[in-house]
Amino acid sequence: MVNAETLGMITINQVTSEPDDTQMKRRDFLTKGALGITAAGLAGCAASDSGPNDSSVVTSDPIRWKMVTSWPSNFPALGTGAVHVAELITRMSGGRLSVEVYAGGELVPPFEVFDAVSRGTAQMGHSASYYWKGRHEAVQFFAAIPFGLNAQQMNSWLYHGGGLELWTELYADFDLIPFPVGNSGVQMGGWFNREINSITDLAGLKMRIPGLGGEVLKRAGGIPVNLPGAEIFTSLKTGVIDATEWIGPYNDLAFGLYQAARYYYYPGWHEPGTTLECLIHRPAFEALPDDLQTIVQTACQAANLDMLSEFGARNARALQQLVDEHGVELRPFPDDVLRRLRDLSDEVVTEIAAGSGPLGQRVFDSYRQFRDESSAWQQISEVAYSQAIR
Ligand code: CA
Repeated sequence: MVNAETLGMITINQVTSEPDDTQMKRRDFLTKGALGITAAGLAGCAASDSGPNDSSVVTSDPIRWKMVTSWPSNFPALGTGAVHVAELITRMSGGRLSVEVYAGGELVPPFEVFDAVSRGTAQMGHSASYYWKGRHEAVQFFAAIPFGLNAQQMNSWLYHGGGLELWTELYADFDLIPFPVGNSGVQMGGWFNREINSITDLAGLKMRIPGLGGEVLKRAGGIPVNLPGAEIFTSLKTGVIDATEWIGPYNDLAFGLYQAARYYYYPGWHEPGTTLECLIHRPAFEALPDDLQTIVQTACQAANLDMLSEFGARNARALQQLVDEHGVELRPFPDDVLRRLRDLSDEVVTEIAAGSGPLGQRVFDSYRQFRDESSAWQQISEVAYSQAIR
């Protein structure tokens, strides 16, 4: 069992010491073509232009890629999601490009996925970008930001709002190409053994909550704790921590967290739609013919939809089970608590943007502008509809 955590996890000390010059190097990804028009891509097009009977196309040796992941083997939704996208690519390409998946720790440790793909040890990776904040603070905008974009908004920003172009630009410095490849949807606020009726109830609260959410809790007077997934249950059960967040009903049920805490709070303000990433070693991608590049890109898009759909279906069933069979008490965070946490989150996120250089500031500006624009539309569409059917 690797010591991997998921979707909002421990601080990754291993990745906090990136040499500055790596961050500063900017490669001209636009001229080389982030998504496809490359020398190899054009060569591939030329080959297929010569006709379907061109034997050089159908008899070329299969290309074999390795995919390293941050997840234990077959970890629900995440490990299985990695396998899913690998199988899609292999099957869609008729075996011309086959992808073999390695669980965290098999080929490289879970939190060395970024580096391994960056240097070409593996051609692909399956992870979440907020683990790499030691490389560049702005990577967190492409995974999850407290009170940031939900899953639908993330996909809209990434695919049609300029987000993926910025992400591609950011990762070009590391010889990587990113694609969104899954989403948890909005997570749960976490498991508590005391009620949260006001912001003062967070004072002194020892809670396992990683990343930016943890920083926000700290500013609210709480004590964020980083723990690997395997230690969460026992720590909560024995009172080493007072509360914990994990993912959502599906994964939380599997962890048995209902046996260690009484109240299950919502919503997961700290992870409103965590995006998973597929990382690709850029030279490997650019060496593919155009059709295989399109297959990789399309497989990631299909897997992105599939994971969000899986979480939606499984969370719904698991929530029912938690309440009906295990007597879990669901609680909403009070409005004034959420308002305060939102203000503190804005502070934290603004500071990150200010400290992450010109590209980080551009990412933040794009993200914030998209959030403001899409929130107005969300309010009179999804939100209004949700309220109408309550
Ligand atoms: Ca989480």
